[in-house]
Amino acid sequence: MSQYDFDLFIIGGGSGGVRAGRIAAGYGARVAVAEEYRYGGTCVIRGCVPKKLLVYGSEFGHAFEEAAGFGWTVSGARFDWATMIANKDKEIGRLEKIYRGIFENAGVKTFDGRATVKDVHTVVVNGKSVSAGKILIATGGHPVKPAVPGAELMITSNEAFHLKALPKRVIILGGGYIACEFAGIFNGFGSEVTQLYRGEQILRGFDDDIRNHLAGELVKTGIDLRVKTDVTKVEKGKGGLIVSLTDGSTLQADCVMAATGRRPNTDGLGLEALGVDLDEEGAVVVDEYSQSSVPNIYAVGDVTNRMNLTPVAIREGHAFADTVFGGKSRRMVYENVPAAVFSQPSVGTVGLSEAEARKRFGEVDVYRTVFRPMRATISGGEGRIMMKLVVDAKSDRVVGVHMVGHEAGEIIQGIAIALKAGATKADFDATVGIHPTAAEEFVTMREKVREPVRA
Ligand code: NDP
Repeated sequence: MSQYDFDLFIIGGGSGGVRAGRIAAGYGARVAVAEEYRYGGTCVIRGCVPKKLLVYGSEFGHAFEEAAGFGWTVSGARFDWATMIANKDKEIGRLEKIYRGIFENAGVKTFDGRATVKDVHTVVVNGKSVSAGKILIATGGHPVKPAVPGAELMITSNEAFHLKALPKRVIILGGGYIACEFAGIFNGFGSEVTQLYRGEQILRGFDDDIRNHLAGELVKTGIDLRVKTDVTKVEKGKGGLIVSLTDGSTLQADCVMAATGRRPNTDGLGLEALGVDLDEEGAVVVDEYSQSSVPNIYAVGDVTNRMNLTPVAIREGHAFADTVFGGKSRRMVYENVPAAVFSQPSVGTVGLSEAEARKRFGEVDVYRTVFRPMRATISGGEGRIMMKLVVDAKSDRVVGVHMVGHEAGEIIQGIAIALKAGATKADFDATVGIHPTAAEEFVTMREKVREPVRA
């Protein structure tokens, strides 16, 4: 019998913590978890899942417009925000119960409350000290607002999920995942959307062709996207919020949403006092096995600020449990992790951008296609799909695949398997397309693009 109350104490009942707890308990570890808010974490409660439900809901806005070309008359279509939010909340409540159930079914003791770390083997939760052999920090992150006067008048994604009414005029700050996704959500539901981004082009870090193409597509859907523009001040005015911009102009809005990044949740946890190294953002610094500078304290997921994606946190949690409690040395592999931005149209990506590939391999072949989706031929839609393959010229290996278009995430998920398996361009060419689909273009691109085309 161990000298501690538990073998493992997990702080945070989100994606990473749930997976680590279930797997560790499966290996026979005595596990406890503390969650201060709702089980499921950011992804389930106020991230990926409710966001995707809002994306689905908002896509009907465009679908009704497209339907006319196919002979439909959709008269009197009206959107009710309260119904959307209530149904979304019901689903999130259902999922939360499932997540709590995962712990309970695995025999994990749950504490509903905020936990802090007192010493390297003691956690305090609800005023009670609990000892554990190992501690896993899986506390996630939180959205941050820019430091400008009136920032308190802005909302973040946290509040966007619970707005009482759909705002008529929305300003979204940022050019990352959350900004692009919420711009599409509000736009689809019928709000007037202005998206402001401080840099040259949205989605910094993504392939440049994808960034440029998406920006053009967002504008076509009616989003007023302004790059090289930032907010200097937000004030309350008579007709709503008055937002001052870096170009000297002002905008009026009913809602200003900051989607300007997220920070790890380590404040007040007590980690620094124990000698746990944190980086300048407050993230727990860990090695490839998610071990912190204090050997029995580990961290997984967004709190480590490595690659802030749910499936990555889950794998980090699983690898931690395998390594520490399962006797199998496992670590997360961060190469070729596919990702999607659920903007409208969406972005799917796996592997290297063209610029990254050129840096790594020198000589790179690029294949790119831009086309009108079949559905748009009758609907009259203006949208264009873009697909791009980046190939290491020497080995013929496909090292990056990128797409802007409907269901890009669904398509890229399958292609990511090919990249993981080391597929070459010849393998892509030898694959028979499924006709008629958009995805078949990925196996029919034959002409190399010599120079990247800038929009
Ligand atoms: P991102 O880091 O993706 O984007 C933040 C954006 O805000 C960037 O455009 C950044 O500009 C801008 N920004 C940062 N600080 C300021 C500031 N002070 N003033 C003005 N603009 C600023 O963060 P998100 O919040 O969108 O998302 C956080 C993370 O969550 C993502 O990186 C992703 O890992 C994950 N996520 C994944 C999703 C998915 O898988 N579909 C969905 C949502 C989130 P700049 O580029 O110049 O730094």
